[in-house]
Amino acid sequence: MAVCKRCGLKTVLTADDVEKAVEQVRAMKGIKLADDETYNKRLSICRECDKLEYGCTCMLCGCIVNVRAVMADGKCPYPKKSKWLV
Ligand code: SF4
Repeated sequence: MAVCKRCGLKTVLTADDVEKAVEQVRAMKGIKLADDETYNKRLSICRECDKLEYGCTCMLCGCIVNVRAVMADGKCPYPKKSKWLV
């Protein structure tokens, strides 16, 4: 099973698993978090992206997009131009 290169989590996750992973990031000290509007906008862009698989995995980087999106400095790895404008 593929593993997220950043957080080490398996890529096929339930919605609860994804939410727990996001909450773990939110609870980490020293992580600057994205505000809710930014987080939700990023995820809405991912949902329309051809690189999203399993509803939560970016096939370009292997990350759970929710985990990447909740971090203020999270980046979209789409080639040439990030799809996240926020
Ligand atoms: S390439 Fe960017 S927009 Fe597409 S799934 Fe990955 S993080 Fe989301």
